[in-house]
Amino acid sequence: MVSWSDLYGHNTPGKPSECPQVWRFAGEIRDKAHFNDPCPWCQKPDLRVGYKVLQVGAGISWEVCLDCVCREDVEVQIEGVDVLNGARRDHLGKLAVRLMHETCRDLMRRLLVVSSDMDLQEIAVYFDRNGQLSPARAAKLLAALAQAGIEVDARIFEVQIRSAAHKSEFAAMTEKEKLLVWPALSPAIKKKFNALKTGPRRYAERHGAEPFSRGR
Ligand SMILES: [Zn+2]
Repeated sequence: MVSWSDLYGHNTPGKPSECPQVWRFAGEIRDKAHFNDPCPWCQKPDLRVGYKVLQVGAGISWEVCLDCVCREDVEVQIEGVDVLNGARRDHLGKLAVRLMHETCRDLMRRLLVVSSDMDLQEIAVYFDRNGQLSPARAAKLLAALAQAGIEVDARIFEVQIRSAAHKSEFAAMTEKEKLLVWPALSPAIKKKFNALKTGPRRYAERHGAEPFSRGR
């Protein structure tokens, strides 16, 4: 694989003024369905959706984040027309959301092929309508995916947790269900739940928080 430093010495690709070439968006967006890699240009961690940019004729391409495909030294054309600034971010951001939802729907379709559980059908319909899952639905879905041997990064599902109703729904879940959904929650929400002592007990103990009552 060709690295940036092989081509341009120690110039990093994070600074447009040091980039000697104009890059072009190849029209391809990929949902990797995991968060294991950083953006190869800006090094921002947890890149899920990559936008393919290339130098025409040079045989070099990268999959970069939304911020990087929106840089000034990247050309983006949609049906032959240059798309700039806010319109570009808006258009490409919406395409990514559509793609991420499609990844989730695809996983649910795979699951429904091997399961006749009516709850899962309801969860698929709920996701279609909302693009998100309530905590209990997320737990049920993640458990079914694991049982079917379909590997998935829980973070690809957006879990509704901001409303009082969803917070209560999470608090009422079993320890096992909470542990399933826990990886999908943001660090801020996890911190809040641990402070409220509604996070999974095992998680809190492992991270040195005070153990709380074992009422369940
Ligand atoms: Zn980037």
